[in-house]
Amino acid sequence: MASTTNPADARVVVIGAGIAGLAAAVLLAARGLDVTVLERAPAPGGKMREVPVGDARIDGGPTVFTMRWVFEELFAEAGASLDEHVGLRPVSVLARHAWGERERLDLFADIGASADAIGRFAGAAEARGYREFCERARKIYRTLEEPFIRAARPTPLSLAAGAGLRGLSDMWGVSPFATLWKELGKHFRDARLRQLFGRYATYCGSSPFQAPATLMLVAHVEQAGVWLVDGGMHRLALALAGLAEAKGARFRYGAGVREIEAQDGRVSGVVLRSGERIGAEAVIANADLEALAGGLLGAAAQGAVERPAAERSLSAMTWCLEARASGFPLARHTVFFSRDYEAEFRDIFGRGRLPSAPTVYVCAQDRNDAGAGPDGPERLLVLTNAPALGDRRAFTAEETASCERNSFDLLRRCGLQVERRPEATVLTTPLGFERLFPATGGALYGRALHGWASSFGRPGAATRLPGLYLAGGSVHPGPGVPMAAMSGRLAAAQLLGHLDSTARSRRTAMPGGMSTR
Ligand SMILES: Cc1cc2nc3c(=O)[nH]c(=O)nc-3n(C[C@H](O)[C@H](O)[C@H](O)COP(=O)(O)OP(=O)(O)OC[C@H]3O[C@@H](n4cnc5c(N)ncnc54)[C@H](O)[C@@H]3O)c2cc1C
Repeated sequence: MASTTNPADARVVVIGAGIAGLAAAVLLAARGLDVTVLERAPAPGGKMREVPVGDARIDGGPTVFTMRWVFEELFAEAGASLDEHVGLRPVSVLARHAWGERERLDLFADIGASADAIGRFAGAAEARGYREFCERARKIYRTLEEPFIRAARPTPLSLAAGAGLRGLSDMWGVSPFATLWKELGKHFRDARLRQLFGRYATYCGSSPFQAPATLMLVAHVEQAGVWLVDGGMHRLALALAGLAEAKGARFRYGAGVREIEAQDGRVSGVVLRSGERIGAEAVIANADLEALAGGLLGAAAQGAVERPAAERSLSAMTWCLEARASGFPLARHTVFFSRDYEAEFRDIFGRGRLPSAPTVYVCAQDRNDAGAGPDGPERLLVLTNAPALGDRRAFTAEETASCERNSFDLLRRCGLQVERRPEATVLTTPLGFERLFPATGGALYGRALHGWASSFGRPGAATRLPGLYLAGGSVHPGPGVPMAAMSGRLAAAQLLGHLDSTARSRRTAMPGGMSTR
């Protein structure tokens, strides 16, 4: 199939209505392209899903919304306004952290308030260390936003060129070859603070003991603002799907794609599980990179990508439940820490086991910024990190029960009683995540960022097969809701750029078709 002459006539299929697929669909539909989104699940959102528990609906995926500007820009590019589509309220308490009944520390949106809290919790020297740490995190973020996060396919060389001399010296200041854990030791003597800020590595599904120190930029991202989404995070996916539809995109749910087809060396369409064929000049695959590399979408797609070399990122055991919670003042976001952080990551990455001493995150979804919630049962997401082995083995009932015991025992030791009822609890294991996101083993963030060069290991949107583009948390710039949205934006921009250049070269009767390189 030849590529179309007029970019506006191009038919684009987006495989997957995850946040990246939705972002790409919005932008391409807004430019007038003929967009069809094919999603195997019954609703949009992918990992940003809602889990029905009895009559309640609980956010079972992301709960921390950051980098609002990514969505402001996205909506604006499509001629719409984020505020008119999604209700967002900034929080003043970023998260509460607990190590025991009496050891609690809140982090605030206001750096001064956090420094004061850290001073009371661990002393004045730690508060000073925190302020220095925030300044470094800010510099790193500033250095990387343009040449890395917004760039199509950065390399160490392009990054160095883009960062400039000042940026390079800032980067050098955080020892890019050091691990996050080691670098945090320069700011914090208190092991609990090192643990708290080391946990930011898990936002990319990685171990703080192996992740590069540059991940301290996550601290700045949170500091720059965390918002609550009215009605839950899933609303954001619904809003994006609604906007794409308003711009003319078609959505088909329950439509799993079996194969991406190619003809004459370029994409020609897709085949659904039902056998139906849909022709397209371009395809954006929002499925995990592993699904393509593993051949789940056919030989043409498999040959178009490299199999990722790095190890898989974290999976999770998540309990979505409606229960009474008492004895501990839960904030909207609360993290309960184990005493031996290293053991947790040794279990997960080293031994391929559920952690015997887990760190547990609780999102109390009915609580407001002040921590006020309902008198009766409330909606909770409880999350424990786990190894991504869902495609290799199911954990036994005994392993699962022991992980559950260890997780809820930790909450109890910190004073929190959760009155669980089996009929009001939905557990998702790495096997469950593997079924939802095939070929990942349940890894929720693509490949782990272990080692200084790992950030450059993710592919960009372009592939070896002309007309096929990648978008999602497993490709550049990486996982997390705003980053995945950014990847969708980058994929849409590359696709449009290639269509434009093909149309131009046709007009000037130059030889050569659309190239994705
Ligand atoms: C429990 C949990 C907590 C998280 N917490 C946070 C957080 O607090 N903050 C944050 O920013 N991020 C968080 N994340 C990460 C964030 O949710 C993801 O990085 C992001 O949503 C991934 O988006 P994506 O575009 O890669 O698409 P995905 O969400 O991976 O969606 C891909 C879509 O493609 C569909 N698909 C795949 N194959 C096919 C096929 N063959 N045919 C049709 N459809 C197909 C899938 O069904 C899915 O809907 C969390 C994730 C999880 C699971």
